[in-house]
Amino acid sequence: MDDLSVQVPLSCPTCGCTEFSEDSEADQKSDDERIFTCAHCGAQFSKTQLIDANSESINATIQDIGDEIISALSKDLKRELRKQGWKVK
Ligand SMILES: [Zn+2]
Repeated sequence: MDDLSVQVPLSCPTCGCTEFSEDSEADQKSDDERIFTCAHCGAQFSKTQLIDANSESINATIQDIGDEIISALSKDLKRELRKQGWKVK
C-alpha cells in the first residue's frame, strides 16, 4: 500500500481518458502552469483545472479507501495527496 496515490488517476473532464501528454516546456513553468494535453481528444488543461475537475472522484476514492482501512492510514493518504497539490477535504 505504498503507492496509494497512483490509484487516483486524473481523467479528462471532456472524454474521461486518463492519459495525458505533458507540455514539453514544463521546465520553464511553475507547477500550476504546466499544461496537460489529453491523449484521446486533444483538450488541454492546466494541472489546477484537472484537479478541480477530478475533485469529486478523488474524494469518492478516498471515501472508498477509508471504508476499508483504518482511519490513520486514510489521514496519511490525504496528507500525501495534499502534498501533491490535491484539494482533499
Ligand atoms: Zn479527452
